[in-house]
Amino acid sequence: MNLNTITEVKRPRTAEEIGRWEDGHAWLAGGTWLFSEPQVAVDTLIDLPSLGWPPLTATPAGLEIAATCRIVELHEFSGPADWRAVPLFRQCIDAFLMSFKIWNAATVGGNLCMSLPAGAMIALTAALDGICTLWPRDGKARDVPVADFVTGNHANVLRKGELLRSIRLPASALSKRFALRQGSLTHLGRSAALVIGTVGDRSEDFLLTVTAATPKPVQLSFSKLPSATELRDALDQRLPLEGYFDDVHGVPQYKRHLTRYFAEQVRAELA
Ligand SMILES: Cc1cc2nc3c(=O)[nH]c(=O)nc-3n(C[C@H](O)[C@H](O)[C@H](O)COP(=O)(O)OP(=O)(O)OC[C@H]3O[C@@H](n4cnc5c(N)ncnc54)[C@H](O)[C@@H]3O)c2cc1C
Repeated sequence: MNLNTITEVKRPRTAEEIGRWEDGHAWLAGGTWLFSEPQVAVDTLIDLPSLGWPPLTATPAGLEIAATCRIVELHEFSGPADWRAVPLFRQCIDAFLMSFKIWNAATVGGNLCMSLPAGAMIALTAALDGICTLWPRDGKARDVPVADFVTGNHANVLRKGELLRSIRLPASALSKRFALRQGSLTHLGRSAALVIGTVGDRSEDFLLTVTAATPKPVQLSFSKLPSATELRDALDQRLPLEGYFDDVHGVPQYKRHLTRYFAEQVRAELA
């Protein structure tokens, strides 16, 4: 839709060019959400693609995903053979309810900054121990784990004018085995539960990440693969019924049922 309150679009080459942050400014990434509803409080858009950040940078230490990396670019990524978790990228992308436009324009950073429960890029990067690098308007860059970046439904730790620069996935997480389960109330509907497990070669460092069913990512970590009972007990202790997200995509009881069921399937697949 047209945003008829916009009076200026800035296209900076560096983030420093923006200087002072004013009320009414908004970072513009793919624009798939920004242009999907009226933004009456916004008068200036600051285009992020014009910063020209390389979308994906792979090194022996891991993968740096620029916030401006588009979903379609992440989908095309194929890493070194020992990064066994790379196919998880596509599975998470497929879990993302998308039109052709979103597929080609939406960015990984935009998805994190929207901080919706069904943010599939949040699920992916949290499950792979992602670390966000944030650039405040004044002051030093800071790092925040993806699992702590989102604080609730459409809420996160970003301060006024702060920019999400990138997400780093360590090689240690990219080398793990993984399993994913996802369910929706309707065929191709928005995720009601998205559960990902990752584990090391000798069944060590099992990490279960629950998203979509909860307002923010919930993670359970175990030094070795738990039994079915241990996992179920830990899940119920960490996530009482009130911890599940209640919306049109499913009531808490339904989301709890899916989460318990998927968690056990994930555990069994990785056993
Ligand atoms: C029909 C439809 C279906 C959708 N389905 C889903 C879904 O299933 N799951 C889901 O999570 N989302 C969904 N969305 C919301 C949205 O399209 C996606 O979350 C998308 O990934 C946002 O990315 P973008 O690059 O287009 O962000 P934009 O629309 O450009 O920006 C989104 C918000 O994030 C801010 N922002 C963007 N990048 C940065 C940055 N680097 N630093 C700081 N702030 C930033 C913007 O200022 C804005 O407030 C849907 C939207 C539509 C219209």
